[in-house]
Amino acid sequence: MLNPDIRPKVKNLIWRPLSHCLPTLAALYHRHVQINVFCPLCSSNVEDEYHVFVACSVAKSVWSMLNVADLSSLFVSSFEFWNYIIRNKNKEDINMAAMLFWTLWNNRNLKVWKDSCSPRLVLFNITITFFKEWNQAQALWTNCKVSNTTMSDRWTPAAEGRIKCNINAAVSQIEIMLYMD
Ligand SMILES: [Zn+2]
Repeated sequence: MLNPDIRPKVKNLIWRPLSHCLPTLAALYHRHVQINVFCPLCSSNVEDEYHVFVACSVAKSVWSMLNVADLSSLFVSSFEFWNYIIRNKNKEDINMAAMLFWTLWNNRNLKVWKDSCSPRLVLFNITITFFKEWNQAQALWTNCKVSNTTMSDRWTPAAEGRIKCNINAAVSQIEIMLYMD
């Protein structure tokens, strides 16, 4: 069901609406949290998974800018929508769609938790940038696997009298872009 090439973080995000696990406002209400369930971005409808990723005017705008899915077809759930993408789109479009799922959910969280959100064009640019970064990382990874690197992937202890500091870092333009507006 899920494309194995999709970044794990994004794959996890897509899996959650498909399993009805995302804490949308509608889901929280069903768990007896007394809240306003209308979409914080457009206020036009109840915020469930389908609304966040497909039916919201914000989502529709960015989907049409990306041109990877035809929203004129009628879908009744985010599961059905994702199923349509998997069955009808090529690998690039599937990955792009996955990136947009991620962008839309982050934008929604920004609104809910920080009362801020990005303009639609910025969401489009974030998705494209994320997609390009992912492709570059994939290409780099493929090259690493092909080349005979001598770098050891085994951890070794520090020499006596020294302290070893292990740092694992990743730099992305995405987080910067999300907080620019
Ligand atoms: Zn909405």
